[in-house]
Amino acid sequence: MAQTISNAAPPKEVDIIVVGGGAAGCVLAGRLARADPTLQVMILENGQNNKDLSTSIMPAMYISHLAPTSTTGDFWQSKENKDIGGRAAIVPSGGCLGGGSSINFLMYTRASASDYDDWDTEGWSFNDILPLARKMETNHLPGQNPKVHGKEGPLHVSYGGHQSELGKQFIKATEESNYEIPYTDDLQDFKTGHGITPWAKWINPKTGRRCDTAHCYVHPVVETQTNLHVLCEQKVIRVLFDESTPPRAVGVEYCANPLAQVPLNPEQPPTVGKIETVKAKKYVVVSAGAMATPGVLERSGVGAKDVLEKAGVDVVVDLPGVGAEYQDHQLALGIYVMDENADTHDEYLRGNPEVHAKVGPEWTSTGKGLIASNAIDAGMKLRPTEAEIDAMGNEFRTEVWDKLFKDAPDKPVMFGGIVSTFLGDHALLPPKLKYAMLGCYLMYPLSRGSIHITSSDPFAAPDFDSAFLRHPMDLPPQVWAWKVVREITRRMPSYRGELAPLAPKFKEGSEARCLTPEEAVELLKQEKIEDIKYSKEDDEAIEEWVRQNVGTTWHSMATCPMKAKAEGGVVDARLNVHGTEGLKLADLSICPKNMGSNTYSVALTVGEKAAMILAEDLGITGV
Ligand SMILES: Cc1cc2nc3c(=O)[nH]c(=O)nc-3n(C[C@H](O)[C@H](O)[C@H](O)COP(=O)(O)OP(=O)(O)OC[C@H]3O[C@@H](n4cnc5c(N)ncnc54)[C@H](O)[C@@H]3O)c2cc1C
Repeated sequence: MAQTISNAAPPKEVDIIVVGGGAAGCVLAGRLARADPTLQVMILENGQNNKDLSTSIMPAMYISHLAPTSTTGDFWQSKENKDIGGRAAIVPSGGCLGGGSSINFLMYTRASASDYDDWDTEGWSFNDILPLARKMETNHLPGQNPKVHGKEGPLHVSYGGHQSELGKQFIKATEESNYEIPYTDDLQDFKTGHGITPWAKWINPKTGRRCDTAHCYVHPVVETQTNLHVLCEQKVIRVLFDESTPPRAVGVEYCANPLAQVPLNPEQPPTVGKIETVKAKKYVVVSAGAMATPGVLERSGVGAKDVLEKAGVDVVVDLPGVGAEYQDHQLALGIYVMDENADTHDEYLRGNPEVHAKVGPEWTSTGKGLIASNAIDAGMKLRPTEAEIDAMGNEFRTEVWDKLFKDAPDKPVMFGGIVSTFLGDHALLPPKLKYAMLGCYLMYPLSRGSIHITSSDPFAAPDFDSAFLRHPMDLPPQVWAWKVVREITRRMPSYRGELAPLAPKFKEGSEARCLTPEEAVELLKQEKIEDIKYSKEDDEAIEEWVRQNVGTTWHSMATCPMKAKAEGGVVDARLNVHGTEGLKLADLSICPKNMGSNTYSVALTVGEKAAMILAEDLGITGV
């Protein structure tokens, strides 16, 4: 076999080099290699091969990728930020073949139609994107609009092999609350900006396996064709240019990644070993993700002149937009206690041998059960009422609501949802209890961070500023949504209060204080549960809690936006890096604006669109 997955001898020259075999990179490489078996395509991937990797293919194991010893995730440490209580946020990204698609939480979500239209870029309107969004998926859910969902794509969408009762309770409690959040089967129709639904997953309902882009787009091609070369555990150092004007990308330099199979030991930081070179006859496409792509460009001499000079890199193209506008969604997750019979993943995650003895064989033989689930079974898109907008203040109304949301009913301000377990180190919480995490994340934050290299060494830590909550208007919607989600949770039959040390520090005697399990049971006996009236002090306690707890939603984007160079852009509508030839980007770094969605589907869209663009450029049909 001529494939070069992992250690086989790699070719020295190919037609297309894809830097980073992540969510988008695998889509475009797989599509192109499949469509034209004469086209030589190479993926250079920093992390390990994910083929049949149990922690990746078993949906319920997703949280293992975020453990301190993980070798499948990359961890990006921000500088300290006073807006989040002086903490230095850590933002993980996918660090194995398939990238984020191999380690993410598998939540199926799509952006709003107006998000794509707002890009205001030829070829990227919602009408351009819709056929690609349908083409990528096989949607198994009931009640879906066939005009916007697909039935024949490589990625399966389902409710997985287990739907928890807690998810159902959350939906029912929403109906019983004082909020008008309509139920819909199809919240991901690109149009609905406000509603609640059972949350779907990127899981194949027959096998119970994760649907990542490596297994769905790349491995099948590697197994049947010889023109897709996949080199794992190799870090691309930089793109090589020729002497022409504008400079043309002609290849890349890469080296072995010593961290592909072992966790970082700060005492022994990795170093660059033997440097290899591979040439590209047609294109180099950088798909290293929003966190890593700016570094690949900057090490190649493409970036802001002052950043490059400080890092000791010769300037090839002065492009100030590289790494300048980091964005994410900002997530705050609260921990709630659930009753002792609640069907959570807690015992599975605690390693209870009885549970493992049951769910392991169940998954292997039927593709069903807890392992075929991410424990995230209900979620909502939220838009505030007029009264709630008023409560968030005049500046929120004029600077945020009126500008972003008023005329875009498909845009949610916040997402909220329930996770039927505690996603963390169970040794840190009282043992044996059952937990749920209720989270809210901000869809269109105004805060902007940045990420830049500090040296030409590909293993050196970057200068990263997550800037979470830097913009004051990012805080009010977090506080509002936290209250919405709390009111709903208080009405769930399994609700047993909160762990006060981990909740907002409400004053003693406050109506908002955390309830004990006994108090929660008493509350649930009431015929009609009244909403909590929060005092100014209570609101301040929630604000402080949000600052102490907000973090990444793992949705990094917009670090090399698709805009004109004069506006801080890095790529044009055909994904070409400004001022260069033969160099394109294809990952979430190219988003010119934030997207109201968990971002896997957006990365898939970028991958599918990139495949179309490259096919057009190269005269390939049938992509
Ligand atoms: C923990 C986590 C949970 C998430 N949960 C969800 C979810 O439930 N639902 C959802 O919709 N989205 C989720 N996401 C987001 C989604 O997975 C990402 O937005 C998506 O994977 C981004 O795709 P990408 O192609 O831009 O980059 P990535 O998928 O990150 O791919 C980049 C690839 O490039 C490689 N790379 C980086 N640098 C180099 C280099 N120098 N040389 C070679 N290779 C390199 C990386 O190893 C990686 O494989 C989650 C992400 C994470 C990290």
